[in-house]
Amino acid sequence: MALLSPVSSSCLPRLCSQLAAHDAVVDTKSRVCLSSASSHLQRGLIHKCYLDKRESHGFKVLASASVTADVSTAEVAVKSPIVKGDTWSIHKFGGTCVGTAQRIQNVANIVIEDSSERKLVVVSAMSKVTDMMYDLIEKAQSRDDSYEAALDAVFEKHKLTAVNLLDGDELASFLSVLTRDVHNLKAMLRAIYIAGHGTESFSAFVAGHGELWSAQILSAVLRKGGIDCTWMDTRDVLIVTPAGSNQVDPDYEESEQRLDNWLSQNPSKVVVATGFIASTPQNIPTTLKRDGSDFSAAIMGALFRARQVTIWTDVDGVYSADPRKVSEAVVLNTLSYQEAWEMSYFGANVLHPRTIIPVMQYDIPIIIRNIFNLSAPGTKICRAPIIEADVKQDSVAYVKGFATIDNLALVNVEGTGMAGVPGTASAIFAAVKDVGANVIMISQASSEHSVCFAVPEKEVNAVAKALEARFRQALSAGRLSQVAIIPNCSILAAVGQKMASTPGVSATLFNALAKANINIRAIAQGCSEYNITVVVKREDCVRALRAVHSRFYLSKTSIAVGIIGPGLIGATLLNQLRDQAAVLKEKSKTDLRVMGIIGSKKMLLSDTGIDLSNWKELQNEKGEKADLEKFVHHVHGNHFIPNTVLVDCTSSTDVADHYHDWLHTGIHIITPNKKANSGPLDKYLKLRARQRQSFTHYFYEATVGAGLPIMHTLRDLLQTGDKIIKIEGIFSGTLSYIFNSFVDTRAFSEVVMEAKAAGYTEPDPRDDLAGTDVARKVIILARECGLNLELSDIPVQSLVPDPLKETASVDDFMQQLPSYDSDIATKRQAAEDAREVLRYVGVVDVKNQKGVVELQRYKKQHPFAQLSGSDNIIAFTTERYNKQPLIVRGPGAGAEVTAGGVFSDLLRLASNLGAPSC
Ligand code: ADP
Ligand code: ASP
Ligand code: MG
Repeated sequence: MALLSPVSSSCLPRLCSQLAAHDAVVDTKSRVCLSSASSHLQRGLIHKCYLDKRESHGFKVLASASVTADVSTAEVAVKSPIVKGDTWSIHKFGGTCVGTAQRIQNVANIVIEDSSERKLVVVSAMSKVTDMMYDLIEKAQSRDDSYEAALDAVFEKHKLTAVNLLDGDELASFLSVLTRDVHNLKAMLRAIYIAGHGTESFSAFVAGHGELWSAQILSAVLRKGGIDCTWMDTRDVLIVTPAGSNQVDPDYEESEQRLDNWLSQNPSKVVVATGFIASTPQNIPTTLKRDGSDFSAAIMGALFRARQVTIWTDVDGVYSADPRKVSEAVVLNTLSYQEAWEMSYFGANVLHPRTIIPVMQYDIPIIIRNIFNLSAPGTKICRAPIIEADVKQDSVAYVKGFATIDNLALVNVEGTGMAGVPGTASAIFAAVKDVGANVIMISQASSEHSVCFAVPEKEVNAVAKALEARFRQALSAGRLSQVAIIPNCSILAAVGQKMASTPGVSATLFNALAKANINIRAIAQGCSEYNITVVVKREDCVRALRAVHSRFYLSKTSIAVGIIGPGLIGATLLNQLRDQAAVLKEKSKTDLRVMGIIGSKKMLLSDTGIDLSNWKELQNEKGEKADLEKFVHHVHGNHFIPNTVLVDCTSSTDVADHYHDWLHTGIHIITPNKKANSGPLDKYLKLRARQRQSFTHYFYEATVGAGLPIMHTLRDLLQTGDKIIKIEGIFSGTLSYIFNSFVDTRAFSEVVMEAKAAGYTEPDPRDDLAGTDVARKVIILARECGLNLELSDIPVQSLVPDPLKETASVDDFMQQLPSYDSDIATKRQAAEDAREVLRYVGVVDVKNQKGVVELQRYKKQHPFAQLSGSDNIIAFTTERYNKQPLIVRGPGAGAEVTAGGVFSDLLRLASNLGAPSC
């Protein structure tokens, strides 16, 4: 039997025309002034009409109801023919599941295919319809007459859906209901429009129509499919009482009686029931509040003592985190009732938080399933303690999932006068309760010096006012120092039943947040230990979520890498990452994920990580026009990894000029590019100051000596309190090769030619011979030692003969070089005669605050004389390494070792995340 909607067709137009005609005063039983008491008036009319309808359907049977809420299923079976119990299976279909005609047909097929003996199907309104209905009320209240057109759109949407699915009598009957309902709504909205105000009951009544229509359409479709099916207007059955702001409590006893009555009159085995809507004990239409259809299904599950409740939605189940925010979230196979409750309470809106309690008392499992992916088994929520075989058995297994709530403010009530004074907390929360605010978490330090709690942002001003009023005296007497509000906060909660009594879970959580450089403003953990809640700045929330999720579910440390300049060094680094990434992930739990590669013309971006085995092909196929700003935004902002590093493998000053701003936005930088550290001193100092103020790291090991641990060694010496006296070294692989090979009777030009042919020199060997590159390394080391020098302060002895400095082509230069051999040959011979060798060195003389790049002579037994090939050698003379300098020696040039130096910086970054940058 299909019931009409609660306000009958004969009654509502009367109501609306009364409202319209009596512009100020309307007669109900007593005369009520519309302007001052429209709410009473409206409520009275709805109530009256609603009862009329009940009576007209023979619903005056409440007194004869035989079953009460605490009667067991067996007793019910004896006393009445009404069948409840585990032959019933409850399904709930969310808005997206019934969003179009095709989807409604799909829902019908699922219901038909369920082999349960009895089925109750709870439906939401078609997607967006509830929003549309609330919007109608908003518009009417603000006297915006576009509500009429908006209502027509709602009408059209449902008409079109019905026309697509139904025909014959079913279609005609639904369209007549729809037409009448819309007609009534129009009258009611008109009344709201005139009054400029609609009560909560009016809103609830209007908003609930989405469910009324979707339930009627679905039941007609099922009947068309050959199923004997009835629809239930749950306002006839479900009775709820208001419980604080934005909540209602079911009256199980009354609802059970009404359900029995309903079932005795509608003995159908398949029932389609409206989600979301209910009635007050006074039979006034109300709702279970936004997203309340899950709650409807759970209450029905409890009233029916059903076998299970399946909640169909648009995702594969409950994920370890909101899949819209964390794309690597995983579906959880099982959750305990408690875990599901905590997840939903803390913002996992896949489930309404109140869904758990009704089913929990009867141990009825809830299954969350995806209507668009029937092959996914979904998430089962039940009581039994669950050992998940598929979850890793370390601390990771103890956290099931994470959820967040945005738009919160923290309130901090502080003062020395609070300690040890009984009743302070109670006074604080009484004041909060008086303004109807919802306290989401509370934290109090054991010193009792302050109480801090989170409330929805929109309620915080009222809360602050109430507290200031309540504690005015304490504040002026100084017993309380302040009631402070910290706006723009979010809550992040980690949930898991097994966190209880497991050491290390919070440490891991806090560590992950620290590594992502996220400041925690407040912490709470109840002694049930089912959740740990932290409050963070709203803008940090998604990053915080990703950081903790990746720490618990993926790797200890996840870093998004952006490679700038995939030339020789960049490409070699990519190969090294390709070969080593899996091992790092497995063994060191470090996930280095290349999210973007940008060259001078093209860039390749990925949301999940670039496949490094064929990035070149991908760049050719899918690469887009290079745009550095877009690139940085993508790598830093657009995915699930909490830490970002940009690796600048160019030698560009333009790129280096961005470092300061990148560091400022929390992007770590690693580079072999010498330009930033050897550029203008003021820029350098500004950059380093920015870096040192933060937890954002800047590593540049490969700027000096390629992969040799030079910068790292120097930093260690300085940080451990050693004093550097002098750094002296052969910093150029090319010049090292040239002077190591410049022996016996060989001509200098011949050796240069050989080095060029072997690919050891720059395309123009003058770039090496001029010594500028060495000077840049000297300045980098000098500045690291605290010397404020400019590049121009370093005297550089160029090995390019003066007349050849201006020679146009490289070939001309190479041809003319032999004519200058004699000069340098003389120097070599003089050294030889003194049993010495020539070496091209850079020197940082820390003591005398200067640097120099020059050709020097060293005794044949000096370590600098022992070099071979293109090796670099660096000697640190310090207070500790005084008699014997500390020497680092090895290959200091070439793509493999330079890329290796950059790679080691990446790993250094991974282990330094969360530590201050120095
Ligand atoms: P319905 O209309 O079916 O009730 P909802 O939109 O209310 O659907 O809930 C489903 C949505 O909840 C999903 O589309 C998903 O984006 C979101 N969601 C948030 N957190 C989670 C989570 N932890 N697991 C699954 N879904 C989540
Ligand atoms: N239709 C209602 C809403 O959108 C209830 C629900 O879908 O759960 O809030
Ligand atoms: Mg929902």
